[in-house]
Amino acid sequence: MSFKSINMLLVFLLVISGCSSLNKLNFFSIQDDINLGKQLKQEILSNPSEYPILSRQNNASAYQYLDGMVAEILNSNDFQYKDDFAWEVYIINDDKTLNAFAAPGGYIFVYTGLIKYLDNPDAFAGVLGHELAHADRRHSTNQLSRQYGVSVLLGLLSNGNSQILPQVLASLTTLKFSRKAEQEADKYSVIYLCDTQYAASGGAEFFKKLQAESSSRPPQFLSTHPNPGNRVEDILKETNQLNCSQAMTSNISNWQRFQGAL
Ligand SMILES: [Zn+2]
Repeated sequence: MSFKSINMLLVFLLVISGCSSLNKLNFFSIQDDINLGKQLKQEILSNPSEYPILSRQNNASAYQYLDGMVAEILNSNDFQYKDDFAWEVYIINDDKTLNAFAAPGGYIFVYTGLIKYLDNPDAFAGVLGHELAHADRRHSTNQLSRQYGVSVLLGLLSNGNSQILPQVLASLTTLKFSRKAEQEADKYSVIYLCDTQYAASGGAEFFKKLQAESSSRPPQFLSTHPNPGNRVEDILKETNQLNCSQAMTSNISNWQRFQGAL
């Protein structure tokens, strides 16, 4: 085989493996995800004008509700890094932003705008499951390395306090996941929620509401989590295939109390 054809074969193999798997091309170790996530979290917590995080101290009941929901979802047997990642959740006090995002290593950030928008806990649990999946399936380090290149991120990790960190953080909140990553996150949201009191198809409620309202201004969630097509249909199909419940929570008073506390 000539040098050229070996090169072609390598390109072909890279393309194939890039399409077939989301995780095989992740150059980061689990510890890298943990370290990068920690750095990003610190950066977020030290920038309250951009990220006005509600303190746990002053919002104990809201966090108690939220932590309870996260713990229930994490109870699923389908997490890969349940014991490795931090799984901390923070509420950002911004009623205008309809979004949530996940940093590597299990740091989840949800905006009050998203919480107040949703009519029931099942829809919110669906979005939470989706974000937890982005962290557990390590979509963020995949996507960040695509954006910055592996060497930049590895340099960031080895040098500690790098100047590029704020830039990486800024892009994390506007990070566009691939459609494949979105499909996987939607699918795992169903898998996780199947073991909870919430409708496994909860995420579909969120997308249904977005579609029904189809405002002129697309919500931030869809700009960072692109719509991979028949999202609602796919979630319902997955729920049926796995024989999971689609029954929505009937008593939503705790959910409304949570919303009212924010
Ligand atoms: Zn997403």
